[in-house]
Amino acid sequence: MSDHRHDAHADGLEQRRLEVEQLLASTDQQLADLRQMREGLNDDDEHDPDGVSLSSEWSRLEGLRQNRIDQLAAIDAAAERLAEGSDAVCTVCGGPIAPERLEVRPEATTCIDCAQQQSSLG
Ligand SMILES: [Zn+2]
Repeated sequence: MSDHRHDAHADGLEQRRLEVEQLLASTDQQLADLRQMREGLNDDDEHDPDGVSLSSEWSRLEGLRQNRIDQLAAIDAAAERLAEGSDAVCTVCGGPIAPERLEVRPEATTCIDCAQQQSSLG
């Protein structure tokens, strides 16, 4: 029922999901630490230079956290496509996605050409 390429992609997705989940957990932890630190500083004046760097660190971590969540969603979407057997088909042009690309980026849903076009547009 299952071929080797299919299995390799499923393994890759599973591994990537675990990695991103760990990264997300550590980002959550950093945000929790930062929140505590900020609450500790609350009664200080707002001109404290530490307050400024804390809030820029906060928005950096929030951005990072959102990226991780987006990555998890992409991985889940790719896993669904894998289950349907359409994981190696580009969602933009309908062409094949190279197996080498799926090895490096198991959550990829576009072929390398479309991905490059999208990133040069952005
Ligand atoms: Zn394409």
